[in-house]
Amino acid sequence: MSGDGTRCVHGGHPPGAPGDPLHPGPVLSSTFDLGADEPLPTDFYGRAGNPTWRALESAIGDLDGGECVLFSSGMAAIGAVLRLTGRDGALVLPSDGYYLARALAHGELAPLGVPVREVPTTGPFDGLAGAALVLVETPSNPGLDVADIAAAAAAAHAVGALLAVDNTTATPLGQRPLDLGADLVVASDTKALAGHGDVVLGHVSTRDPGLAASLREARSRGGAVPGPMEAWLAHRGLGTLDLRLERQAGNARAVVDALLGHPAVTDVRWPGHVGDPAHAVAARQMRRWNGVLRFTLDSQQAVGRFLAASRLVGSATSFGGLRSTADRRARWGDDVAPGLLRFSAGCEDPDDLVADVVAALEAV
Ligand SMILES: *Cc1c(COP(=O)(O)O)cnc(C)c1O
Repeated sequence: MSGDGTRCVHGGHPPGAPGDPLHPGPVLSSTFDLGADEPLPTDFYGRAGNPTWRALESAIGDLDGGECVLFSSGMAAIGAVLRLTGRDGALVLPSDGYYLARALAHGELAPLGVPVREVPTTGPFDGLAGAALVLVETPSNPGLDVADIAAAAAAAHAVGALLAVDNTTATPLGQRPLDLGADLVVASDTKALAGHGDVVLGHVSTRDPGLAASLREARSRGGAVPGPMEAWLAHRGLGTLDLRLERQAGNARAVVDALLGHPAVTDVRWPGHVGDPAHAVAARQMRRWNGVLRFTLDSQQAVGRFLAASRLVGSATSFGGLRSTADRRARWGDDVAPGLLRFSAGCEDPDDLVADVVAALEAV
């Protein structure tokens, strides 16, 4: 099909009839006209379906190369996948990925008798015997390590397990895990996909129609449904994902170049840099880079001085938005150095951003 920009702008917007709105608004109705006759029309109640969801699901499904099911958040999407596909064996999760996936598995599923195991993002993916579901997250949050998706898929399939990939950091433009052998893609669209920091949303994509139908049923039963307004805002945000990623990746590269070799900074990681330990595998499986990187300052106090001195870098969790932000991950309990910052390069001008970061490092 067409290029990334065209797909982002036109995805989920089928050609209309004369007089139709070129920019349709969200359908906010919770209930729909059932008519005098049965069976049910496509839309009947807002927890089961909504035309505004379907438009965004069509756009994301096209980018992921599968069928997309929206959820109210990234965690709702991950929770649905873990509950549905993890119950016939062990759950294998990344030991260094997003902390709430582990918290959900250990806190809610393990007490029900589901064995939960952890493997680092970089593997090795041997010892999966007995697994029903293997989840990898790549590039991982916050470590920016990279899992070899094709190798993980082969290892999971060899023991009869499904492979799910958390694609949040990469976005559907950065990486197509279903093409690399994954059975499921999960993502927090709160981050770069919606991209403006005004929405909490998530999705799952799969090529298995039975799994997609089960996920829709699980969504309806569990009630973790997105609001139509959130879906509409995310669809509007998706229209500029190609442009935003381009700028964010360029800014990340410029910031990384400024950080490397700076005396106050250690441990810079960004898979797009040729010197990064994850670059070779990332270059093999990713289509393009993004704005999320990490680096370490000397201490929590050094991070405080950096954030106070910067004029452009917001102190905030989440990532992938228009504004550059940084988040000290140890505050959330991640097992990382006290001075580790996950840095999300925004859409500022590269010269302005680099000048600001370098000036703020002077204060460290
Ligand atoms: C943020 C995030 C999540 C959770 O998504 P929410 O939309 O905040 O529920 C899951 N995985 C990764 C990698 C994330 O960064």
